[in-house]
Amino acid sequence: MDKRRFLRAGLAASAAAVSVPALAQASPNVRWRIASSFPKSLDTIYGGAEVLARRVGQITGGKFQISVHAAGELMPAFGVVDAVQGGSIECAHTASYYFVGKSKTFGFETTLPFGMNQRQQNAWMVHGGGLALVRDFLRDFNIVSFPGGNTGVQMGGWFRKEIKSLADLKGLKMRIPGIGGEVMARLGAVPQNIPGGDIYPALEKGTIDAAEWVGPYDDEKLGFYKIAPHYYYPGWWESNSMYSFYVNTKTWEALPKDYQAAFEAAAAEANSDMMAEYDFKNPAALRRLVGSGVKLHAYPLPLMKAAQDAAFDLYREEADKNPSFKKIYESWSKFRGEVMLWHRFAEHTYANFVYNNPPSKT
Ligand code: CA
Repeated sequence: MDKRRFLRAGLAASAAAVSVPALAQASPNVRWRIASSFPKSLDTIYGGAEVLARRVGQITGGKFQISVHAAGELMPAFGVVDAVQGGSIECAHTASYYFVGKSKTFGFETTLPFGMNQRQQNAWMVHGGGLALVRDFLRDFNIVSFPGGNTGVQMGGWFRKEIKSLADLKGLKMRIPGIGGEVMARLGAVPQNIPGGDIYPALEKGTIDAAEWVGPYDDEKLGFYKIAPHYYYPGWWESNSMYSFYVNTKTWEALPKDYQAAFEAAAAEANSDMMAEYDFKNPAALRRLVGSGVKLHAYPLPLMKAAQDAAFDLYREEADKNPSFKKIYESWSKFRGEVMLWHRFAEHTYANFVYNNPPSKT
């Protein structure tokens, strides 16, 4: 072997010796579990975690595998924050507002009553500094959060009797959880927090007079229309409902950078895909419900105004005693005002025209 060939062979050998283990190290096999706060029957919301897991697997050539576990399989639906915080689970798919009992600051990520719509919430979270503020708050819980789906504006619930004025809410027992429930209480209603599967029997027995859930597609499956035919809109306590993927901070930091990028891209896809799926499924479900005799009603305007005033009273009171709530509230309410001012022009005028003036010929 001449000297040049010998050198070339030596270089090739050392390159091979270096590159093979380096490649193996760069693409380790990673296995995670997602604990969902949702049952499989809530297929559109539960499906958000399945979209994430499938895409992460595809992007990483099967090296990063995530298994999805329905509520109750690994832990109760509302045990997921403690589990991610303690590191017993790598990831959860949940709604932050389930945890307002820990701190009302958890509300911002999903939504607050009279909050923004899905597009506006996305804009605030992704470009308006919302996600950075939320992550700052969640650092104490060892959680890194990623937006993970949305229902859009929800429906306002099912009532046995018509709600003609604010007075009809007095003493009315309604299944409505979280801060929305607190606002209802300020209007005289008696809010109840009941898991999805127990709402129908409670309505049937008369333990409750009304119940809110999500929107036509999910509500139809629970059968509320059979006993409480008055279906109100809008769900002013959920003008959007943004779900979240919660990852344990140490687990996230230990993840290779390219797997982090795969997870972020897949979460972003799951975030937009859920809204598209709801917008596809809800129109047909609403038609079926109306065909079964459901009566649609808009909430009376004075009730909406009183509810909005009660909600913002609650926010100011909370900001006065809770610094983490105050910090995010300032950003949230400023962005809310700005984006709503802009949307009043092109978006609102266009929507108002096309929804009320169908073309005479199509
Ligand atoms: Ca709801």
